[in-house]
Amino acid sequence: MNLNKPIQYIKGVGPKRAKLLHKLGIETVGDAIYNFPRDYDNRANILSINDLKIGEKQTFKAFIAGDAREYKVKRLTITKIPVKDACGAVELIWYNKPYIKNNFKIGEEYIINGKVSYKYGQICVDNPILERDEKNKLNTGRIVPIYSLTEGLSQNVMRSIMYNVITENLNDICEIFDEEVLQKYKLIEIKDAIINIHFPKDEETLKDSRYRLVFQELFLLQLGLNLIKNKFQTKKKGIIFNKIDLKNFLNQLNFKLTNAQNRALNEILEDMYSNKCMNRLLQGDVGSGKTIIAAAAMYVAAKNKYQAAMMVPTEILAKQHYETLINLFKDSGINVELLTGRLSIKQKKDLLNKIKNGSIDILIGTHAIIEENVDFKNLGFCVTDEQHRFGVRQRAILKQKGKSADVLVMTATPIPRTLALMLYGDLDISVIDELPPDRKEIATYAIYSSLRERAYKFAIEEIKKGRQVYIVCPLIEESDVINARSAEIVYDELYKGIFKNYKVGLVHGKMPSKEKDKVMDDFIIGELDILISTTVIEVGINVPNASIMIIENAERFGLAQLHQLRGRVGRSGYQSYCILIAYSNSDVIKKRLKIMTETNDGFKIAEKDLEIRGPGEFFGIRQHGLPELKIANLFEDIDILKKAQRCAEDIISKDPDLRENSFIREELINKFKDKLDGIILN
Ligand code: ADP
Ligand code: MG
Repeated sequence: MNLNKPIQYIKGVGPKRAKLLHKLGIETVGDAIYNFPRDYDNRANILSINDLKIGEKQTFKAFIAGDAREYKVKRLTITKIPVKDACGAVELIWYNKPYIKNNFKIGEEYIINGKVSYKYGQICVDNPILERDEKNKLNTGRIVPIYSLTEGLSQNVMRSIMYNVITENLNDICEIFDEEVLQKYKLIEIKDAIINIHFPKDEETLKDSRYRLVFQELFLLQLGLNLIKNKFQTKKKGIIFNKIDLKNFLNQLNFKLTNAQNRALNEILEDMYSNKCMNRLLQGDVGSGKTIIAAAAMYVAAKNKYQAAMMVPTEILAKQHYETLINLFKDSGINVELLTGRLSIKQKKDLLNKIKNGSIDILIGTHAIIEENVDFKNLGFCVTDEQHRFGVRQRAILKQKGKSADVLVMTATPIPRTLALMLYGDLDISVIDELPPDRKEIATYAIYSSLRERAYKFAIEEIKKGRQVYIVCPLIEESDVINARSAEIVYDELYKGIFKNYKVGLVHGKMPSKEKDKVMDDFIIGELDILISTTVIEVGINVPNASIMIIENAERFGLAQLHQLRGRVGRSGYQSYCILIAYSNSDVIKKRLKIMTETNDGFKIAEKDLEIRGPGEFFGIRQHGLPELKIANLFEDIDILKKAQRCAEDIISKDPDLRENSFIREELINKFKDKLDGIILN
């Protein structure tokens, strides 16, 4: 395969255009081949002038019927050229392209495409596209590809480059599937798919080509994921836990589990009490009460004399969970400990010993718990909270610390089902799709920055009622301090200013841990009225008395992230509020923030976010280290995804190291390079 050739040496490219192509991410021939059109324009239908409809983009065939005429209107040069066919005449019009008149000779016949209008008693086409009626028309008379461009490249140039790339290198594109797979999944051959995705013969072939390429893309992705999973997962049977009576444990709570919580818990227990090795994703919107479900499952494990571990993304959250669990397990004889990066060497050594000799039943911790020196005596149950903050690999490492331990991963990032299937293809999914009954919708307002005083005054009213307030500021790169309000700046302004009579705290990621803890603790116990912070509080923090959240520079956050942040309030029976302060008035931003004011449903928000920003931007994907999708659409292609998944499983089960499928193996390495944490096939 020779698709790694630099693009520069393709006919019609050269050093200058190569630079432009680099801007589009096209460095090699292979990049170009997989640079699929972003859209198509069907110019296949060639009309006669009589049949043209005013106001539509159409294609017709005509000959140059007269000399070009040129007009000057102020700074504008207008060039008009008349064309005719057997039954009618059309005026072609160009603006500021005086050189165009030299391109055409009277009597020459062209295929012409453009938007037809009627001006000055004439049928006209502004800025038409003309092409000689030859066999290999790229710009008219066919379904025409539309590519993403950069300044200095036109569609016509791009098309001819793409055409050259493909025709010159077609023989180097290799078919990775054997005849059997092609037939089973009704796939057309890769070469046909590549030609026709760029220059489709007709709509039908375009559809088949797209199907083939989406299938291949999702197939390779699934294959990569499966290889990781296989590498880390023993196919052994799971632990059969003895049934434990949870009545007392649940009765100590001052609430009843919701139906959705009960359902999720039962699904988890069913796995635990059977010989199935549990691998389950627990999805639930922020505040839906996932922690207690994990706690109940860990309780069952601990009562069975197995150790349980829970990994969370931040120290603050680890500490909070630790305190929740200490409280829940206080009368049960279950020993809970906390492992984070901030223990002294001696403390850590002690703790590691206790983990190893089994005197700790439940361990909560940050990434620190997957470090190599952490050895469990008999880890039987693992929980990962806020899974979207971890990669596929970290989850796997935690599991490996036990022997066929059951695994529960929890996420409040409501991933659309398609994405969940892809990222967590091997997981069973439980969903808590119901909030506890005392919750009120969080009233959300998006305001422009000029109204921010009002937001602060409103906050003061709530503080007077006994509530607490979060003010969240974006994380700021040094380079754009001018455009955004950092937590420090907001703090300096407010604690001496409008909030001078109230107790205000500041936390951000760069503070020493001890100070950070102190401030957080003060806020949790109600010592502080207002907490100004960066997004360190994004995940999981639970302060039920805090009922107002003000988000500065809300335009800088993704919707899913705003939703996570907003989830810090509305955790009690108090009416809660979220005020989004925007420092930009653009339509896109207004549209995005409006979604936040219209719904509290994390799943809807995630879908909108994905729609607006595209899967590449949607957070989660990058953190998972997956390659960018070039053609598959996570909303529309779920059926293809399922087939591709089946196909990948099939191949791996027969040929786990891909020894007999060397083409697939090579393509996989090629596609993923160092992606997927660099652990496939090494
Ligand atoms: P999340 O799903 O976002 O992790 P948590 O587990 O932190 O949510 O729960 C949020 C709050 O709701 C906690 O204070 C918890 O005690 C409380 N909670 C959980 N389940 C219920 C319930 N069924 N009824 C009332 N409150 C509940
Ligand atoms: Mg949580």
